[in-house]
Amino acid sequence: MRLVLLGAPGSGKGTQATRLREHLQVPHISTGDLLRAAVAAGTELGMQAKVVMASGNLVSDDIVLGMLEERLLRSDADNGFILDGYPRNLAQANALEKLLEKIKQPVDVAVQLDVNTDLLVERIAGRAKAEGRADDTPEAVRHRLNVYNEQTAPVVDFYRNHGSLVHVDGIGTLDEVFNRIIAAISHTHDVG
Ligand code: ADP
Repeated sequence: MRLVLLGAPGSGKGTQATRLREHLQVPHISTGDLLRAAVAAGTELGMQAKVVMASGNLVSDDIVLGMLEERLLRSDADNGFILDGYPRNLAQANALEKLLEKIKQPVDVAVQLDVNTDLLVERIAGRAKAEGRADDTPEAVRHRLNVYNEQTAPVVDFYRNHGSLVHVDGIGTLDEVFNRIIAAISHTHDVG
């Protein structure tokens, strides 16, 4: 199962991806996590990314694509993956399509988690207190939501046009949302 998880910041992508990883037995690949690891490791790339991330902007397409390609080529991704946080704009969607064609692992399904803006803001505010992420300040959050609406929302249409999009209502308990995702993707593959 090769699944792309789409949704605004705060939509619950990361949480659901963790559960899907257990269920589908494929790695959860989050470009946000890959970037935060590079920041924590203090690599050259991480130091460049740090400032950009703290402002709520997107890190350059080249940097993220390079990290992603390296990750996808690891053998644990041979049987599939859950992609979280990528693609985030149309250029990334096209780059991903090319990359996956090259490694003969096309996307099976893109899952869009729908959550309204008020609830997104509320959830991220709660998370900011709990986790202290540098980009969870009110200003950076507002900016990330704008970036999402302007650059990432068109990616939903990209997958709709490819016929691989399913929508899932992201409001409810973790179990409810998880079960909706499983139901929505069950036609694409044997997901157990
Ligand atoms: P969220 O979905 O809550 O915004 P992420 O962990 O997915 O959190 O992303 C955090 C930050 O990492 C983004 O605001 C951006 O700066 C950077 N980032 C993550 N994925 C990408 C990507 N695919 N392209 C560019 N920047 C990215």
